[in-house]
Amino acid sequence: MLHWQPPSNLLCRSIDVARSYVFAHPDDELDELSQGRFDALVRRRADGEPMAYITGTREFWSHELLVTPATLVPRPETELLVDLALREIPRKAEWRILDLGTGSGAIAIAIAGERPLCNVTATDISAQALAVAKENVRQAGLGNVDCVEGNWGAAVAGRQFDMIVTNPPYVRADDEALQALRFEPVSALASGADGLDDIRTLALDCPALLPESGWLLIEHGAEQPEAVASILGAAGWTDIRCHNDLAGLPRVTVARRGGK
Ligand code: GLN
Repeated sequence: MLHWQPPSNLLCRSIDVARSYVFAHPDDELDELSQGRFDALVRRRADGEPMAYITGTREFWSHELLVTPATLVPRPETELLVDLALREIPRKAEWRILDLGTGSGAIAIAIAGERPLCNVTATDISAQALAVAKENVRQAGLGNVDCVEGNWGAAVAGRQFDMIVTNPPYVRADDEALQALRFEPVSALASGADGLDDIRTLALDCPALLPESGWLLIEHGAEQPEAVASILGAAGWTDIRCHNDLAGLPRVTVARRGGK
C-alpha cells in the first residue's frame, strides 16, 4: 500500500488515463517517460502554477472551461455574481446582457446557458482572452453569446442592454497578493493604486449602455464595498446594494441606472 498519496490529477495526466485508473492500479510502476512527465508537472505545481493552467481547464457553473495564461482562472466566488444576475433575469425574458471583460467567458456562458432566450455579448480588450472565450462558447454549444473585442464600454458603443455584469480587475497595484497570483494576467487583476480605476471607468461608461433602471452587477474586493458604492452613487446610480459571497465577504455590488 502507498503511504504517500501521489497527486492523482497530475499522475493520471502524465500517463494519460482516467483518474479512477490511478486508484484502481496502486501497484503499477511508472516507466521513465511517464515519470519524467509526472516530475515536470509536480515541479510546475510546486512552483505555484495554478492547477487550472497545468490541466488547461476549470469548472465554473457546471461548465468545463478552457483556460490559458491569457485568462484569469474562474473563481468560485464569481458564481455569486451569476446567481445574483439570474435572480433578476426572468426565465422567459429576452434580455440583452453584456459581460464586460469576459476573460475565459465564464460569466457570459453561465448566464447564457441558464437563460437561453437572452442574448449575451461578451467583451474583452485581449484578443487572446477572447479567442479562449469563443472556444468555450463553441464547446458549450451556445448560440446566444457574441464575443466582441474592445475596451470596456467602447467595445459596444451605441448599443443598448438590459443588464451589465462584470468581474473587472480590482486588486491594488502594490497588493502583495499579486505575487501569489503571478501566473495570471496582471491586466485582469490590478487596477491602479487603490484597485478601483476600472470600476471608476465602468461607473461612467455603463449608463449610456442601459435604459433607466437597467442593471449593473460588479464583482469587487471584500474591502471595497463602501468605495464602490460611493463611486456608483457619485455617477448617478441608484438602489446600490452589496451582497456577501459564501465566505460571508461583501463581494458583488448591484445597482440600477438612475434617471438623467
Ligand atoms: N478574485 C481575484 C483574487 O483572487 C481577483 C479577481 C479580479 O481582480 N477580478 O484576488
